[in-house]
Amino acid sequence: MSAELDALYQEIILDHYKNPHHKGLRGDPSADGTVEVHHVNPTCGDEVTLRVHLEEADGVLRVQDVSYDAVGCSISQASTSVMTDLVIGKPVEEAMGVHEVFLTLMQGKGSVEPDEEVLEDGIAFAGVAKFPARVKCALLGWMAWKDATSQSMTTTAQGGDDD
Ligand code: ZN
Repeated sequence: MSAELDALYQEIILDHYKNPHHKGLRGDPSADGTVEVHHVNPTCGDEVTLRVHLEEADGVLRVQDVSYDAVGCSISQASTSVMTDLVIGKPVEEAMGVHEVFLTLMQGKGSVEPDEEVLEDGIAFAGVAKFPARVKCALLGWMAWKDATSQSMTTTAQGGDDD
């Protein structure tokens, strides 16, 4: 990776760290379709409390909102901020696909070319993928999102149609 690209990636990460998107817990955690999870990355000390609200409209289950509170390093916080940009408003199936692409990038040890069309600012973490200890930081928010979303899908499916 060129030094220029590296600097650009670092700038994107720093920008999300300083001005996180969608930060702060919102909504009613006990509402239908809402699940809250707490994930920690003990190797670095990163923690995130994340709330997902899914809503079904016209037969499509969508990520209505993702809100969170987080403490920890700049990579974990910036990555969670980027993730909310990428999944909020998307159908769950599509958002899960983006999660998969990001996971592949992070597990590629720096050998995977980031897809800007899918990952947008998420490409900035391509450099982080070379450092195994930091990969967990970058994945913390994404794993929390997937966990909460999977749980919400289960409860939504089991709840059936009351109305
Ligand atoms: Zn960290």
